[in-house]
Amino acid sequence: MTTQLDELFDNNRRWAAKVESRSPGFFTNLLKQQAPQYLWIGCADRRVPANELVDLLPGELFVHRNVANAVVHSDLNCLSVMQFATDLLKVKHIIIVGHSGCGGVNAALKDLRIGLADNWIRHVQDVRNRHATWLETVPALQRANAMCELNVVEQAINVCQTTIVQDAWQRGQELVVHAWVYGLHNGLLQDLEMTVSRLDDAGVAYETAIAAVRSRYPAPAPA
Ligand SMILES: [Zn+2]
Repeated sequence: MTTQLDELFDNNRRWAAKVESRSPGFFTNLLKQQAPQYLWIGCADRRVPANELVDLLPGELFVHRNVANAVVHSDLNCLSVMQFATDLLKVKHIIIVGHSGCGGVNAALKDLRIGLADNWIRHVQDVRNRHATWLETVPALQRANAMCELNVVEQAINVCQTTIVQDAWQRGQELVVHAWVYGLHNGLLQDLEMTVSRLDDAGVAYETAIAAVRSRYPAPAPA
């Protein structure tokens, strides 16, 4: 068994050389500025690499990831990232990104035990419980993806309800919250049409986005 992971260091050296040859001075320029426009809050899943799938370079996206892209009002880790991004970096967009085939969402949906994360995804189970009656009407094969979309919308409203975002809006700062989902099967992002740029719009945007999720997963017609 290798203990040094030389191949990753080799890859890293090749990557740094490639970036520098394509764009001379890239890394020294990066040192001088850090003013990303976007904060990405996504799932920790290895198959959803934030920068790559929107084709942005390091420095262009501020990123926070956790299991099932949850925004929890007492999570100092996520809140600290959000506060730094909003108040100091002055990002213009906070984007919550879920993905199809999310193991955390699936575990929450089906009460699967996966370990310590069971306690974390209790927050996602709260989403399931809130929409349990409707989820029952969704065909079993589509339920996990429907639940994934609901979870993104619920986490986006959580973002809108943080003091960080509300204070930013209160002082007239330009800041837009978005809810997106990424398709593992096709590599494409989908906008769940919950785009909120001021507090007064949050409630209607939430209701509209939830209604849109429901319309994408209609109950089968009775036989
Ligand atoms: Zn996931």
